[in-house]
Amino acid sequence: MQSELKIYNSLSREKEVFKPLNPPFVGLYSCGPTVYNEVHLGNLRTFTTFDVVYRYLMHIGYKVRYVRNITDAGHLTNDAGEGVDRIEERAKLEMLEPMEIVQKYTNSFHEVCQEFNILPPSIEPTATGHIVEQIEMVKRIIANGFAYEVNGSVYFDVKKYSEHHDYGKLSGRVVEELLEGTRDLDGQDEKRSAADFAIWKAVTPNHIQRWVSPWGEGIPGWHIECSAMSCKYLGKEFDIHGGGMDLKFPHHEAEIAQSVGADGIQPVHYWMHANMLTVNGDKMSKSKGNSFLPKELFAGSHPLLEKAYAPMAVRFFMLQSHYRSTLDFSNVALQAAEKGFAKLINTYKTLLALKYIKDDAQKVGTEITEVKALCEEVYDKMNDDFNTAEAIAILFEMSKKINSYKEGLISISTLDEETYSRLYTVFVAFIRDILAIDKEEKHDDGLAEGLMGVILTLRKDVRDKKDWAASDKIRDELLRLSIQVKDGKEGTTWSRN
Ligand code: AMP
Ligand code: ZN
Repeated sequence: MQSELKIYNSLSREKEVFKPLNPPFVGLYSCGPTVYNEVHLGNLRTFTTFDVVYRYLMHIGYKVRYVRNITDAGHLTNDAGEGVDRIEERAKLEMLEPMEIVQKYTNSFHEVCQEFNILPPSIEPTATGHIVEQIEMVKRIIANGFAYEVNGSVYFDVKKYSEHHDYGKLSGRVVEELLEGTRDLDGQDEKRSAADFAIWKAVTPNHIQRWVSPWGEGIPGWHIECSAMSCKYLGKEFDIHGGGMDLKFPHHEAEIAQSVGADGIQPVHYWMHANMLTVNGDKMSKSKGNSFLPKELFAGSHPLLEKAYAPMAVRFFMLQSHYRSTLDFSNVALQAAEKGFAKLINTYKTLLALKYIKDDAQKVGTEITEVKALCEEVYDKMNDDFNTAEAIAILFEMSKKINSYKEGLISISTLDEETYSRLYTVFVAFIRDILAIDKEEKHDDGLAEGLMGVILTLRKDVRDKKDWAASDKIRDELLRLSIQVKDGKEGTTWSRN
């Protein structure tokens, strides 16, 4: 009997059996990027987590509507809803239109997702495309008495809300402490309490992005976009909402309050939060200067990187830890993951080429039982709150079996055909559809071959001149790009690591 899927719900702080509202349909929402710069590896860890959640739910038969938004307005430099609009600030810096910034970084986000085998969502709504829905939601919150207008801005009234509902229940924040918070930020004078947040923000005449509203020209607050768009596409009540752990407060806490404030309904059944990618224990973030971009990773061109890493090896590295644990980046860890990844992919290729031979060989009960058990355990691990780390450990066990058939240590026909076919189907599904780590690296139409020919000819020239330092330097630099150069009797050869 296969186990039931359990999800750790951040709201109840417990693992709960997953029961969708309208099976076989599942509504899944995850917070997308704010497209004012390029996503870093930390952001990608969270997007990869929800990609696997999406893929796994589909694999086990659900019809999933996956909504992942693009924040293209309203995210201010301070998450409490103060400061300047990040996109507008970037537009001034790059001397571009805000919408050019949005397009540029949306394109680059999509390219990176493709590199990492992250599927496009079913719907990718933008904040600027849903201004009407956000205004309507703000109106409902005001009508219910949970928001107030001051000088063209609208603030959510946390004190009022907490008289009726539990503000802070997702993040564990104590509302009394939040209400007493400091008032030293821009715009605080307009707020009744420090805990209040803008759901509509009036703009000054020098703002480029602006929309007409019943309260004057302004921009929507960052939190309201996710509430309005999830409600539009998934309904007032839906199954799963995800995002990084750092979004629990204030973003997701605010989302709950807005939905309850507008419609009186708890919007989300299962809240999922992915833990942070860290560097030496510190959250990877742009402001800390410890972040690197995917393209730097592929080229090995960041001081933190000893060499270049391929996207699928990095995806595997991320999935080798459970999404609720922090994952610390290091070259040692990544290189260990590279080795494990290569092993698993080799087994995958072996399996694709392996032929089941029907013969009269005796079927071996223990072998059959062990293989069947592994095929079940790998699902048990995924059903245990998407534990990819432990599922991968089982795939390594399966890998040992597959290699022993290949090497003829055990004849494949000791398995009955049904068990063999189960092993094949499960292993291939995990590598290709669930973990999705089988993407071929980009072909470069022989460019790499050509360039390597030029480089090795130049290297031969310096070697003929006995310039060993230059020769070694070329070899070491190539190694940083995962290209191994070998000098032999018949000349020099190269291979990708
Ligand atoms: P942002 O574009 O800043 O709104 O972030 C996009 C997503 O990346 C959010 O779900 C964040 O929670 C997540 N995120 C940001 N930094 C990290 C990190 N270091 N590790 C994992 N996820 C992160
Ligand atoms: Zn969001």
